[in-house]
Amino acid sequence: ACKQIPEGPIETTLCDYETVESYNDDLYNVLHQLVETPFFKYFRVDLYRECPFWQENGLCMNRECGITTVDESEIPEKWRAAELSKVELPSEDERHHMLGCYYRDADFCFQDDMSEGDYIDLTANPERFTGYVGPSAQRVWAAIYRENCFGLSELNFQTPNSPNNSPHVSLPDSMASAQSPEDRTCLEQRVYYRIISGLHASISTHVCHDYFNQSTGQWGPNLECFVEKVAAYPERLQYIYFNVVLLLRAVSRIGPYLSAYDYCGTGTHEGDALTLDRVNKVVDIASQVGKFDETVLFKGDNANILKEEFKEHFRNVTRIMDCVGCDKCRLWGKIQTTGVGTALKILFELDEKALDPRHNSNLLTRSEVVALINTLHRFSESLAGVNDFRKMWAETDAAE
Ligand code: FAD
Repeated sequence: ACKQIPEGPIETTLCDYETVESYNDDLYNVLHQLVETPFFKYFRVDLYRECPFWQENGLCMNRECGITTVDESEIPEKWRAAELSKVELPSEDERHHMLGCYYRDADFCFQDDMSEGDYIDLTANPERFTGYVGPSAQRVWAAIYRENCFGLSELNFQTPNSPNNSPHVSLPDSMASAQSPEDRTCLEQRVYYRIISGLHASISTHVCHDYFNQSTGQWGPNLECFVEKVAAYPERLQYIYFNVVLLLRAVSRIGPYLSAYDYCGTGTHEGDALTLDRVNKVVDIASQVGKFDETVLFKGDNANILKEEFKEHFRNVTRIMDCVGCDKCRLWGKIQTTGVGTALKILFELDEKALDPRHNSNLLTRSEVVALINTLHRFSESLAGVNDFRKMWAETDAAE
């Protein structure tokens, strides 16, 4: 898996690995510039909410787990919470409260209440190796897979203190009654698993690509780490590509809305125009590569039950992020689950009319737009990182 780009079509998509690969340099370059613009680099998030599922004592004391916050005065006024809450928060009737967060019926994520949280400059807090390992990290991954993956996990975790209020949602009888786990899986479940496993593989790629070598005191890519966590399992790498196509399809669907979005607030006309110009370039690439076929999902008799379940499971994953015992990992976990959740909402909840910016100018919150683009950037950066690992592998091969 480390040596070559996978070949052929990417399942559930109308796209192949080679096409994604051929566009990724351009995509990554423009995304990299885009996430450095003020609109996309400031994110407001409440990182200190209690884990709703178990007692989490796994505080990560490593320096790299910490994050730096930005004072509200540094944020362009237009994007501050007080301003945003005027337009962003749905009315009391439209939202359901749960443990201090709310969701609208269409959402795949629990969203933090806008009145709490810190502003973070994402460019100052890159996702990379933090040293967050051991039972706390494993428990979070186990909860994500075992409790939320429709029984499809390849993991075989023993969680002795499995919490009573764990986020389990039972399957409809028709799905639970089939025989083997493989038979039991429908397309939606497989898609769900690929999303989660691909996200995990992407995070692992970042951890291994920006790795701290404790014996040399140097940061840099660690090929062995990548082989162990990702390349030894070719399907994990394939799922990164899968997520890229899914996210690009969402960006492409929401393209007219993103192009009409108000990014003003940088202070200069040129700055605002540059942001929009980069957004348009991403939308353009998305329209060519984002060939995920969302219409094949959630069809048939149980479609609505299945979709509600899928949504419920994914919302739980977003809540599990509050159980991550490392601030920086929690930050990026929240951004990426919000980004993927936003993509799922765009693909499965919104029809063409809803997506039309003239009919629905407040369709997405600023946080959702920022999370969607930053998440795509994370995945695209993973593919760029995988290419670095391929080169390292080739050099190792040549030297032997
Ligand atoms: P883990 O990555 O913890 O995986 C646990 C088990 O899951 C493995 O033993 C394997 O059986 C299975 N598995 C692994 N990958 C996959 C896959 N792609 N698909 C299916 N199954 C798989 N650490 C950092 O250094 N920096 C971060 O920014 C960071 N962010 C994190 C964000 C979240 C939300 C979480 C839960 C953890 C994060 N971590 C981060 C920790 C990191 O993901 C690992 O848990 C840690 O490096 C320990 O790795 P591990 O090799 O023990 O296996």
